[in-house]
Amino acid sequence: MNIILFGPPGAGKGTQAQLIVKKYNYFQLSTGDLLRNETKKNTNLGKEIESIISRGNFVSDDIVNQLLIEQLKNLKFIDRIIFDGYPRTINQAKNLEIILKKFSQKIDLIISLSVSKEIIEKRILGRITCNKCNLSLNEFFNKKEIELHPCGQEFFTKRGDDNLTTVISRYDLYMKTTKPVIDFLSQNPNFHEIDGAQSIDEITAKIDAFINV
Ligand code: AMP
Repeated sequence: MNIILFGPPGAGKGTQAQLIVKKYNYFQLSTGDLLRNETKKNTNLGKEIESIISRGNFVSDDIVNQLLIEQLKNLKFIDRIIFDGYPRTINQAKNLEIILKKFSQKIDLIISLSVSKEIIEKRILGRITCNKCNLSLNEFFNKKEIELHPCGQEFFTKRGDDNLTTVISRYDLYMKTTKPVIDFLSQNPNFHEIDGAQSIDEITAKIDAFINV
């Protein structure tokens, strides 16, 4: 079963994707992570991507699609993919169908997480990620977990685009460009909306129910 996790930045897509990965042995295909990996390579392309991400804009479809196709060539992904952060535009949504067909794959479940702008700001501004195990926590809500994290606190970093100005542009861009994708995706009978303001466990339980039908 291949899954799309859809929703605004800070909706909890990454957190839920990581839980599904662990529980069901899935592969998280986060275009944001793929792009951030490119920026670490210090190439011209990496620098270009970094400047786009830091302004909260979208990286071009050509670049994102290419990174996606490279991942899909890996057979371990077959029927076990969670798309996180893709598609973000109608074009990408249509393109995903075409790309997946080439790999004899399809989307079996679409989960859309809806969250208010206020909650998103709090979640994103407090978000920190462990560079060693990739776990995301929140400075405001997970003080104890951060203190006791087994990898050590020195591995926690904040994303460069998780600042107030960029968060606002990313949210505005989502409302303008990405939200209309819901109209397109909701035509799929396997589309389900979940209230993303609920606790992590509550959301996980609802996603589990859809995976285990
Ligand atoms: P994310 O980790 O999903 O929040 O993505 C971080 C940033 O990477 C976004 O704000 C965009 O600049 C870029 N990005 C991620 N996924 C895409 C995509 N599917 N299309 C275009 N840009 C993307």
